[in-house]
Amino acid sequence: MRGAQFRTSETVDFLVVGSGAAGGVMAKELAVAGFSVVVLEQGPYLTEQDFGHDEIKYAVQNALTNNTKLQPITYRKHENEVAKPLKAIEYGRQVGGGTVHFTANYWRLHESDFNERSIYGEIPGTSFADWPIRYSDLEPYYTKAEEEIGISGLGGANPFEAPRSKPYPLPPMPVKSSGVLFERGAKKLGLHPYPAPVAILSQPYRGRGACAHCGMCELFGCEMKAKSSTLVSVIPIAEKTGRCEIRPNSYVRKVETNAKGHVTGAIYFDEQKREVFQPAKVVVLCANGVESSKLLLMSKSKLFPQGLANSSGLVGKNLMWDNGTESCGLFEHPLNEFKSVQVTRVLQDYYDADKRRGFYGGGAIDARFDFYPAGFALSGMPDDVPKWGIDFKKAVGQYFTRTMTLLAHTTSLSMERNNVSLDPELKDAWGLPGVRITYDWHPDDVTNMKWLVEREREILQAAGAQKVWSFPVEPAEVNVMPSRHLMGTCRMGIDPRRSVVDSFGHAHDVKNLFIVDGSNFVTSGRQQPTATIQALAYRAAEHIAERARAGDLG
Ligand SMILES: Cc1cc2nc3c(=O)[nH]c(=O)nc-3n(C[C@H](O)[C@H](O)[C@H](O)COP(=O)(O)OP(=O)(O)OC[C@H]3O[C@@H](n4cnc5c(N)ncnc54)[C@H](O)[C@@H]3O)c2cc1C
Repeated sequence: MRGAQFRTSETVDFLVVGSGAAGGVMAKELAVAGFSVVVLEQGPYLTEQDFGHDEIKYAVQNALTNNTKLQPITYRKHENEVAKPLKAIEYGRQVGGGTVHFTANYWRLHESDFNERSIYGEIPGTSFADWPIRYSDLEPYYTKAEEEIGISGLGGANPFEAPRSKPYPLPPMPVKSSGVLFERGAKKLGLHPYPAPVAILSQPYRGRGACAHCGMCELFGCEMKAKSSTLVSVIPIAEKTGRCEIRPNSYVRKVETNAKGHVTGAIYFDEQKREVFQPAKVVVLCANGVESSKLLLMSKSKLFPQGLANSSGLVGKNLMWDNGTESCGLFEHPLNEFKSVQVTRVLQDYYDADKRRGFYGGGAIDARFDFYPAGFALSGMPDDVPKWGIDFKKAVGQYFTRTMTLLAHTTSLSMERNNVSLDPELKDAWGLPGVRITYDWHPDDVTNMKWLVEREREILQAAGAQKVWSFPVEPAEVNVMPSRHLMGTCRMGIDPRRSVVDSFGHAHDVKNLFIVDGSNFVTSGRQQPTATIQALAYRAAEHIAERARAGDLG
């Protein structure tokens, strides 16, 4: 047995829904603070012995991500369309959530991210707003997250980064061929590449081994425990307290409330699909930027007819998306990019929006190769290579070892029309409504992506690529589906009419309910939200523990 075991007749101090980036941190902080904690996680409890290197199993058959055969999703661009089944979003579905199989880029936001609305002004048709906190409020928690989770990087190497109070706890990962070529091209253009901060151990750390450079980070679990998921960093500490139970295969369908409008616990389906009620004094939703909203919308009652914590009508609204663009370069000599971590160099010269460009938006560009062999052969090569036969085989042999890519991670403007709702028709394998995603790109998001493709191509050409090709950015055929960065559907703010939670994730409408995950974001930054999700979780957990000790949440 790993941690505590509570009876479902026992009222625990905290019920945490979801054990991913935020949920793992929340569980650890609350258990270490002395509270009893049950974490309900819909996915299984896998460990390093369960992980493997099978591309089809992990990249195609959803071994670690949400499976639309069991939990269907529909997508439409606009409210007036009928949504069609499509895997529009992708997230980790096991203990550790997205941190188990993510690529592990770990970026802090910039100071300007917190007040872009004040800097750039109103953008018509959007809900572009400032955050209710500033970077300085979060800085100590970024530092804590980097230390506790285990991040490798080189503080101060990025001239555009926000001030930091401590260096990264681990040195950066060794540079790969793509990083060397990226540096060569970027420096020729006067840009400032720097070693990528990643949640992967460059050296042994706190009882875990260093990265073995197997090359299977994105979409795979790490057999070395070198990827700093919550599964291997904070969850074991939570369990060790003897006060935290991680309960896998527990799919929450409703947060229950009483006549006073307080939450009392949650109803979930166990592994045998039996309905179980777990009572708790306080509920913290950490189910991610889509599933927390879905759960609130499903938790309607007489007192909360629009869904729980939804007096503003904003639960599910302002969904922000994983926007980005990708260009590839073919080089004369083998790069053998299939080895080691996906990303070793980044640049943030284009991060800030700039009014002179004529649109809002910015991005950061990283050098990587995140294709595995089958995926590359099917969709990674340029259009002019043969599609079958001996010439196709030859092309795969030539391109796979000699290609690198540049990926720009770009802004996604918040708009109420982009949202999560309950599909009126489609049901999942438990009889619950499927998630319906409504999302269309703001024109500035698209212009920004097109502008950044040109920047990627310049760098690849300056690096000496023999051939450069880019993937389309037109929304009609956009290559970023499914979205993996889920942000904004329970945004934080001061005004309860314009936001769902305060800056600690406290629901404006419910005394003992918190929502702490990617849904709290007010703006999208330039993607890679996990560092900020975890910093926010550390900050919220400290506040929640203080309020609970003071008897404020009962
Ligand atoms: C392939 C891939 C690569 C990525 N790479 C990066 C990267 O390099 N850098 C970066 O910053 N981000 C990356 N991300 C995104 C990152 O994984 C997420 O931003 C992050 O994990 C979100 O944290 P969270 O706490 O909001 O939710 P999650 O980590 O998604 O955790 C939510 C948990 O809640 C569980 N859950 C949901 N609903 C229920 C329910 N009803 N009942 C019980 N449990 C439930 C889920 O199963 C999940 O385990 C990547 C994502 C993917 C898919």
